[in-house]
Amino acid sequence: MNISFFNGNFIPHEEICISPDDRGFLFADGVYEVVRWYGKQFLDIESHTKRLKRSLAELRIDWTEADTFPSIAEELVTLNDLHGKQALVYLQVTRGAAIRTHSFPSPPVTPTVYASAREKKISQKGRGPGINVMLTDDIRWNRCDIKSIALLPNTMGFQEALDNNMQECVFIRNGIITECSHSNIFFVIGDTLYTHPESNYILAGITRTSIIRIAGENGIKVKEEPVRADDLHVIQEAFIASTSFEITPVTGIDGRKIGDGSPGPVTNLITARFEANLLPLKG
Ligand code: PMP
Repeated sequence: MNISFFNGNFIPHEEICISPDDRGFLFADGVYEVVRWYGKQFLDIESHTKRLKRSLAELRIDWTEADTFPSIAEELVTLNDLHGKQALVYLQVTRGAAIRTHSFPSPPVTPTVYASAREKKISQKGRGPGINVMLTDDIRWNRCDIKSIALLPNTMGFQEALDNNMQECVFIRNGIITECSHSNIFFVIGDTLYTHPESNYILAGITRTSIIRIAGENGIKVKEEPVRADDLHVIQEAFIASTSFEITPVTGIDGRKIGDGSPGPVTNLITARFEANLLPLKG
């Protein structure tokens, strides 16, 4: 039986009942986090908790128990028998249920909190040979730094990529490559690794931060500077990074081959170092 967390209790998933007046349902008024369990430990759940608290604060959602995310996640792993397995734990927090009106409920209502865990191995498909990604207009709002549950441009873009036999979509805003529908993107140009700087136009990925650190530790020059979509011809390597994709090489963009069409040496080196760091979490 699948056990989830709902408003303070661990209960069978099918017993969860959410009000139709929940502001998550009415307005996408909420935030989420996702963290990967490697069998023995979570990867950097502290950073995910910190980002969760920032997202909540930016939307002025007052869930005072955000620091309990790690213990909720651990309990879900245990209750769902996920020790020794790979899993993802998702947490969603909305402003709560209230009669429909744009203004925040006054007095405030209790936020709705839901978390679930499911076994999820890293998909090996594409990780070896690399994936193709599709360029698409970044039609998202100006606060992509908040991990909001309002993800329509992301789901629409991703589906469009899949419909065109590509495995992720890459957003372009004013000619600049920002990030992807559910990952950050890196490029190798010359001897330098480029990725979009932290700003309101991207989500500051936890995987992105650890890649920047790993690159630095291994003598790879990193520039947190945007790459223009019309500079794609100078790119030697590309990869995407996220909790769900880990590091996945990109070997084609919109049908254009990157480098020689196979993952390059910088991508391979960073992937190897990233994976070495995961070994203690696997036990
Ligand atoms: N950008 C977006 C839009 C995302 O949804 C994600 C996945 N959460 C990322 C970047 C990567 O973030 P992380 O490495 O923290 O999973």
